[in-house]
Amino acid sequence: MRQEFIDLLEGNRAHAEVSQSAFDDVQDAQRPAVVTVCCSDSRVLQDAMWGNDEPGRIFTCGNIGNRVVQRTESGPVVSGDVLYPVEHTGTETVVVVGHTGCGAVTATYDELTDGLSEPAGIAYCLDLLSPRLESGVERLPDDVDRADAINRLVEYNVDRQVEFLEESDDVPGAVDVVGAVYDFQDVYDGRRGEVHVINVNGETDTDALREAHPGIASRIDRRWEY
Ligand SMILES: [Zn+2]
Repeated sequence: MRQEFIDLLEGNRAHAEVSQSAFDDVQDAQRPAVVTVCCSDSRVLQDAMWGNDEPGRIFTCGNIGNRVVQRTESGPVVSGDVLYPVEHTGTETVVVVGHTGCGAVTATYDELTDGLSEPAGIAYCLDLLSPRLESGVERLPDDVDRADAINRLVEYNVDRQVEFLEESDDVPGAVDVVGAVYDFQDVYDGRRGEVHVINVNGETDTDALREAHPGIASRIDRRWEY
């Protein structure tokens, strides 16, 4: 067994030591207040980014490119991973979290611009992203460099995922859908590790967002107004 996994088990020992009473209220059922959909990227710490170590508080979904769409025979639908807590545990806030320097967005960008191919399983995931990013690639200004292009598309992708949730009949209108970007590259004004809100229920204009949500005005920021 590689040491890396043995180290994880040591970490789990420490986790269990401090968790004995943490599950008392949730060991038989959950009512998570929020469901997050984050990229699986190892630098995106799904619970830690919110300072969360409370079981039962956040329902966490992870996949490459923070996708909320699943393909079915009758067309694209909201992924069951995201919909489950909305449908079954009364969760009324969905947060889609993209991140700076996203590899899945980069791979989709490369596929759209250079036609690069990936193994079938990865291609399946990228094929769910590319129809939503295609118009974003077309809108990119000519003078952006690659890193800037990717980070603009990260926002564009979050916007499209929020849009899909907003437009789906599966998600009740009362559910808040928030789009955010987790920045560990110091691209935004702030500190690395901060989450920047870019979209609330489909609204992407930062001035309108700050006016509508003054309590979080300082956390609202986006790189690309397209
Ligand atoms: Zn990513």
